[in-house]
Amino acid sequence: MTAEYENQRLWGVETQMVRGATERSQFSETNEAIFLTSGYVYKSAEEAERSFKGEIDRYVYSRFGNPTVGMFEKRLALIEGAEDCRAMSSGMAAVFAALACHLSAGQRLVASRALFGSCQYICAELLPRFGIKVEFVDGVDLSQWRAALSKPTNAVFLESPSNPGLEMIDLKAVCDLAHAAGALVVVDNVLATPILQKPFNFGADVVVYSATKHIDGQGRCLGGAVLASKQFIVEKVTPFMRHTGPSLSPFNAWVLLKGLETLDLRMQRHCENALTIARALEKQKGLTRLLYPWLASHPQHALATSQMTAGGSVISFELEGGKAAAFRLLNALKIIDISNNLGDAKSLMCHPATTTHQRLTPQDRARVGITDGFVRLSVGLENVNDLMADLTQAFAA
Ligand SMILES: *Cc1c(COP(=O)(O)O)cnc(C)c1O
Repeated sequence: MTAEYENQRLWGVETQMVRGATERSQFSETNEAIFLTSGYVYKSAEEAERSFKGEIDRYVYSRFGNPTVGMFEKRLALIEGAEDCRAMSSGMAAVFAALACHLSAGQRLVASRALFGSCQYICAELLPRFGIKVEFVDGVDLSQWRAALSKPTNAVFLESPSNPGLEMIDLKAVCDLAHAAGALVVVDNVLATPILQKPFNFGADVVVYSATKHIDGQGRCLGGAVLASKQFIVEKVTPFMRHTGPSLSPFNAWVLLKGLETLDLRMQRHCENALTIARALEKQKGLTRLLYPWLASHPQHALATSQMTAGGSVISFELEGGKAAAFRLLNALKIIDISNNLGDAKSLMCHPATTTHQRLTPQDRARVGITDGFVRLSVGLENVNDLMADLTQAFAA
């Protein structure tokens, strides 16, 4: 498997997504099998002893190793161009594992301020309870990164594009500053996906995903992943997950493997639909702000085009008229659903101030641009004319 697997790194991404890391059982099945088992049996007590000592490389317990989960991990590592990967039960489990396996009391984390609600909770509330010092910076302002990283630092955490403000962070510049400060750089690449942005190419050390989003992309299950060097995964992530147990179910791993097979095709449609809608929204009256990385009007458009290969599935905009106008728009939608998920085949819209970012104070929300009139649209795979007609009738309402 190992030599064969390493050769698969030379395949095109489309081949990796469909065939990468497939392991067939003795039944020679076409489709990847679901090994829905918690444990494994040994031919002898001696074999069990040697397996636990690590003298035999085999599966011993599904909390930290399972053939279906392993196929998902190896396939995602191929697509990302990472040495290794550990799957987790959700995106948040992956974010927490990536930071908690590395940081200790007394150490320092610098994070961008514009974060997904639960990522913000981990950095602002949870890690400080364990004695980790956390400093937030405005991710788009390099001078703030420079100042914060003028002190020795152990880790940097950022999202680019951020959810839901679509801020773009200069990955190369921040990675260089972080490495000079001695920090490990962890990038939440959920909105970009491995198809649109490769943080490792800009110097990132760890990439985390919520596989719930585009990787499943069909609203079926939760999942997450941490990708990094073999050394970081083996020495830090694996013991952390082995002993704390944020494990991905083999069934969910199988669903996500199937999701990977069509990820690039789906991303193409997501991005085409989103760009068409974003361009149409440029002409929409009553919007006070419109954000989509592939529009020339995006504040970091040049950075977006230098780091990503397309604009992604998410468009955010602010309505004149605040919360009342936002709720009127959401309630008038007939095709697009009101939902806080994203990256789904179905187009979904949400009001971050009262849902995903409700926990933040109004001041903290204002600092990351989440005003009362701000909505996030995750553009799905439907016919784009139907989506535009739905938006047009909802705006008219
Ligand atoms: C959704 C999301 C997460 C969390 O993923 P779950 O699978 O829901 O736990 C983390 N980061 C970003 C940017 C997200 O959008």
